Amino acid sequence: MKTGEFDLIDKIRRFAGTAEELQLGIGDDCSVISIPVNQELLTSTDLLLEGIHFRLDWTDAYRLGRKAVSVNLSDIAAMGGQPLCLYLGLGIPAGFNESSLNEFLAGFHAAMSDYGVCLAGGDTCGSEGSFTISVSVQGFCMAGQAVRRAGAAVGDDLWVSGTLGDSALALRQLQAGEVPADFLAERHFNPTARVRLGVELGQRKLATAMLDLSDGLLGDLGHILRASGCGARIEQQRLPLSREFQSALRADAKLMELAMNGGEDYELLFSAASDKKDEIEALSRELDLSLQRVGCMTDGGKLECIALDGEIFSPRATGFDHLLTRTGRTDD
Ligand code: ADP
Ligand code: MG
Repeated sequence: MKTGEFDLIDKIRRFAGTAEELQLGIGDDCSVISIPVNQELLTSTDLLLEGIHFRLDWTDAYRLGRKAVSVNLSDIAAMGGQPLCLYLGLGIPAGFNESSLNEFLAGFHAAMSDYGVCLAGGDTCGSEGSFTISVSVQGFCMAGQAVRRAGAAVGDDLWVSGTLGDSALALRQLQAGEVPADFLAERHFNPTARVRLGVELGQRKLATAMLDLSDGLLGDLGHILRASGCGARIEQQRLPLSREFQSALRADAKLMELAMNGGEDYELLFSAASDKKDEIEALSRELDLSLQRVGCMTDGGKLECIALDGEIFSPRATGFDHLLTRTGRTDD
């Protein structure tokens, strides 16, 4: 690295942007944010570690910068919030390629512009280990209206946005030394945070519980079941699958596992009262985003699944656990 810490911060500051509520951004010890009347502040943070979450020989630094933004905004979307600003922590190894860092920042900046958020601070350090990225996000929602995991009720429908399993299929192919089709690679390396959907579901009070799918449908659904004290029934034939995923599935039926347990879809999973079906379908058309009813909430606390052949079984959620698994998601 030829650029020093403060020159780098200066460079980052130039694309940081502004927002009405951001009274003070990069340059002081803290940011200062005014919270609009009757709103609440949402905050979330995510680590992205080289070797665990990404490999620079598989992804270009530009898409990594975009993904660092999207996966964070996805958490705000999952609460029904409107994102405001990001914080970027960087741990940079001594010999790190400067043009990769520049590409990373360009991707980060491009995604910030796409989603209309600014950068309010961060931290910059040398790293003795690998390239380390920590991104935090803050946003707002109307007071008392954050959509939690705990609000689902027996009889609610379960909905999923977009399609499932594409990202995990791309990763499976990379691990096998194959080159994923562009669509699948894009779903893995450059996911879209469903910000607008989250906001609309929150504001229109359609979702009773919600989260973003980062660890796989079944594992993440388990969080809603535990928090809400319900069970759920999922119908495999209702799972939304892309054309690319379906064609891979025709060649290998076992890939259904990736639609059920594959990670990093960053789609929204939410429950809604069954009489909201028409409103949700209207929202789907309005946003031009597929929203698919995949099952319903049941009593008894159990998760069951109706397979394609009609058989009912209790699926095993194999969602990713960073501490119980010795190697990371990228190279396990
Ligand atoms: P401190 O010593 O108080 O941690 P720094 O010198 O690390 O302050 O940072 C100076 C300013 O630059 C702070 O406002 C901080 O939020 C911001 N900053 C540092 N690194 C980054 C970064 N990677 N991205 C965005 N802002 C950053
Ligand atoms: Mg600092």
